[in-house]
This record gives sequence, structure tokens and C-alpha cells, in this order.
Amino acid sequence: MAIQLPDLPYAKDALAPVISSNTLEFHYGKHHRAYVDNANKLIAGTDLANESLEAIIRKVTGDASKMGIFNNAAQVWNHSFYWQCMKPNGGGAPTGAIADKIKAAWGNFEKFAEEFINAGITQFGSGWAWLVSANGQIKITKTSNADTPIVHGLIPLLTVDVWEHAYYLDYQNRRPDYLTAFMEKLINWDFVNANLG
Ligand code: MN
Repeated sequence: MAIQLPDLPYAKDALAPVISSNTLEFHYGKHHRAYVDNANKLIAGTDLANESLEAIIRKVTGDASKMGIFNNAAQVWNHSFYWQCMKPNGGGAPTGAIADKIKAAWGNFEKFAEEFINAGITQFGSGWAWLVSANGQIKITKTSNADTPIVHGLIPLLTVDVWEHAYYLDYQNRRPDYLTAFMEKLINWDFVNANLG
């Protein structure tokens, strides 16, 4: 099979109580796994079967007849990236190169945090909020459903999943509380710095 479900970078209870083990049992163990299984079924026996995940996503984007492959493959990529954006006892103000870039772009971390959280709050329905890099500039963006910055010429640095399945068991309808907790307690800034390249 071309597409793999990567291991979580921490135990399922490692992010509790910010994100419970129950949420990760479903979100990683059921939702992410289903995207992997569905994508593999859809590419089986086709010329995409031996391509890398990123190559598959880039080849089918914009092709209405391959929307199912795009949706499942892009969701595999987005979730694999999202898990790495978090760690136990993470969050708060960044360090390293990303701290300087955020200060240059927004003036201070608090303003960045406010705008990133607001991007997540205002993504109507399902989707993702992102910090991305383009031509050396960093900016906040958001995508709907499975859409991913890698097909828009952008380099993802950080993401947060705002599909209801990401937070409903722990926060019900309180998406802003989930986003605030993500910012204050979960972000793995070492991963974000590594993505700056
Ligand atoms: Mn999700």
C-alpha cells in the first residue's frame, strides 16, 4: 500500500486534559485511519498506487473526477502534519527563528495568537487554520474541508484542525476554547521552526 498511517508522535493520553485520549482514539484511530484506508482503496490498481502521498495529492488536485482521492489523500497529509504540530506541555510564546518572524510580521506574539485563533473561529464549517510561508514571508491562512496549502504554492509551518471531530468530545461547540488551549498548551514550536527550513 502506498499510503501509510504514521504513528502518533506521543501516547494517546499525552495531550490530556487539553485533548483527551478519547478524542485521539477517535480522531487518530478512526478518522485518520479511515482516510488512509479510503485513499488506498481508491488508488488500488491505478497508476497512482505506487506514487508518494504528496505526488498523489498534487496529481489529482482540481480534477473533479478524482475528488474522492484528493479529499482522502489530503486529509491523510493534513492529519499527519497536525499531530506533529502538538506536544505535551507545548504552546505559549515561541522561541527560535519563528519567534523573530512572528514579531516582524505581527509586532508581538499576542497579536499573532489572536489572528491565528480568529482564523480558526471564522473558518465556516469544517477545515483548517494554517501558518504558512510563501517567498520567505509568513502569513495566516485557512482552508475548507480537505484542502491543503501544499497545492497552493505555500509551505505549511503550523496547522490546527477545526473539524468538529477534532474538539467536540472535549469542548462541544466551544471551538474558541479549543483553539485557545491549542495556542497556550499544545503547539510544538520546534516542529514549526524545523518547517522554516
Ligand atoms: Mn481531523
